[in-house]
Amino acid sequence: MIMHECSHVGCTELIPFNVRYCEKHKKQKAHEVIQSHKRNDKFWGFYQSQQWRKTRNAYMDGHPWCEECLRNGRHKLATSVDHIKPLKLCDENEQLSFDNLQSLCPSCHNYKTRQEQKSYINK
Ligand SMILES: [Zn+2]
Ligand SMILES: [Zn+2]
Repeated sequence: MIMHECSHVGCTELIPFNVRYCEKHKKQKAHEVIQSHKRNDKFWGFYQSQQWRKTRNAYMDGHPWCEECLRNGRHKLATSVDHIKPLKLCDENEQLSFDNLQSLCPSCHNYKTRQEQKSYINK
């Protein structure tokens, strides 16, 4: 087996040539990736917050049907609460304002997400 040193600066642990880090630093690197992902996704914390969960549940209680389907005369149970104005464009009040929320079923939610991604790519 060809061995080389761990790629972590200053680590001299010998490891097989086909892995980059020793056991210890492999764990550390994986942890760093998760941390930077959380930092980059600034809405990650928002969707985990008590405030949002409460608002979302309260809204769903009052709006159990998919609002997009209702507009088209269909009754489908909603499974998610969507921000009409995308979260990244909302100020703090709008993030939790019922006026900016709508209940959506999975297919309408997927459709809207796709549309938003498309318009994002086009810009
Ligand atoms: Zn190492
Ligand atoms: Zn729907």
